[in-house]
Amino acid sequence: MALEKEAKRMAAEFEYSKDDLNRGVQHFMTEMREGLGKTGGHISQIPTYVTAVPNGTEKGTFLAVDLGGTNFRVCSITLHGNHTFSLTQSKVAVPRTLMETQVAAELFSFLAKQIENFLKTHHNDHFETHKAKPGQVAYFDLGFTFSFPVEQVGINKGALVRWTKGFSIQEAIGKDVCELLQKEIDALNLPVKVSALVNDTVGTLMARSYTSPGKESTLIGAIFGTGTNGAYVERLSNIKKMKDIDEKQGGANYDTTTGLMVINTEWGSFDNALKVLPDTPYDRALDKESNNPGIQMFEKRVSGMFLGEILRRAMLALHNSDNSNASFLKDKTSADNDLTTTTVIEPDSALFKQWGIDTSFLSIVEEDQSDHLRITKQVLEKDLGIQAAATEDAIAIKMLVHAVGKRAARLAAVALGAVILETKRLETDGFVDIGVDGSLVEYYPGFEDYIREAFRETQGIGEEGEKKIRIGLAKDGSGLGAALIALTAHDAE
Ligand code: ADP
Repeated sequence: MALEKEAKRMAAEFEYSKDDLNRGVQHFMTEMREGLGKTGGHISQIPTYVTAVPNGTEKGTFLAVDLGGTNFRVCSITLHGNHTFSLTQSKVAVPRTLMETQVAAELFSFLAKQIENFLKTHHNDHFETHKAKPGQVAYFDLGFTFSFPVEQVGINKGALVRWTKGFSIQEAIGKDVCELLQKEIDALNLPVKVSALVNDTVGTLMARSYTSPGKESTLIGAIFGTGTNGAYVERLSNIKKMKDIDEKQGGANYDTTTGLMVINTEWGSFDNALKVLPDTPYDRALDKESNNPGIQMFEKRVSGMFLGEILRRAMLALHNSDNSNASFLKDKTSADNDLTTTTVIEPDSALFKQWGIDTSFLSIVEEDQSDHLRITKQVLEKDLGIQAAATEDAIAIKMLVHAVGKRAARLAAVALGAVILETKRLETDGFVDIGVDGSLVEYYPGFEDYIREAFRETQGIGEEGEKKIRIGLAKDGSGLGAALIALTAHDAE
């Protein structure tokens, strides 16, 4: 009983009350406005130069490529104009030597070569006709998903800020990555135009907007995977900083007639100052020992990369608790049958290692309805090197898991709810559509339900508003989404 009480007390530290939630939403709205006003700030509110969202009637064939880390993906997408599409794709590993080459052109020429191979395999008629009689066939518009920090200055223009994920090609820094790719495409004389530089969140928004039923467009694209981020459709007139940006470019270099632009919020750094975010001892320790303390504070409480680590720190605290009655993952004698359980934790157990617990562990435990939480005990043994955990231990873990997961979902609702309220779309349109992607929202049991519960508690949304919010999984942001951005870029020309 002492253990249960202690676990309950710790779980309560993760509670994010209705008041907290509403304060969070208000503060998120404030930071959204700040980000639209100036460069810098917690929520960056980055203009994407995407000025229209699809409604499912779009048609045509487009190319999309995705350089995200270890792999390079090439695909062609044919939009059927009725919310459906077909997709053909190929994937190759990027050779390590090209990730660290001195000459940027070597990497980009490799990428162009993959596009050429893809065209030969899947669009050979088009490819051959163009080779024989250039100008006879239309160019394919290509959307380029490039998942590294870039400073985007136009729909197909963006300078590389720095490399991450094992890439380091000094020469490319500061250069326009679309231009680098186009140059190598042209060197191979391919009928391809790099029409759009794509952020994956924007891709999610576009993909959902095309596939969601009905004619209405989607308001938000949100990712809850390794990280978290969101993009939404903003009125151009609200993006106050656009005037300065346009001046630097010598005038608006995008279609202004729609009066809209998709904004990439970069909401992972919402409230880095910790004015409204919850902050348990486990959050604090995680942040302090991370490689970027004080940064991405929202993401550190919401996304897949971190939830396992928050849980691990809470479990370890319970294990090391001074409260000797609350014996957790230690030998104990059960009160009802006087049997002693001998729990063994291997010395190199993941419980003792930073980042040792993957967030998929939380999904398994949250889902576990088996007798005496048998499944949880199995995973403890298999993944964490903890043998013969007592049922009481498993129950305590389940309480902590639920607390960490539910708090993440309620925080996700802060971001989504704030965008819904700030854009006033429930009032003007009478409904809101949201596209989501990422393993956390896809697999964590009840994640959407907890988001919805929080919406009902949010002033300005409430029971009535929540019913008017649709949430749908939008996979393939970097394929379908990128193709759709290439299409809107083409149409805007
Ligand atoms: P990415 O965001 O990198 O494109 P994912 O959407 O698959 O890829 O997210 C990966 C993250 O999701 C990892 O942090 C991982 O811990 C977490 N994750 C993977 N499987 C699950 C699961 N079943 N439940 C919850 N989280 C998961």
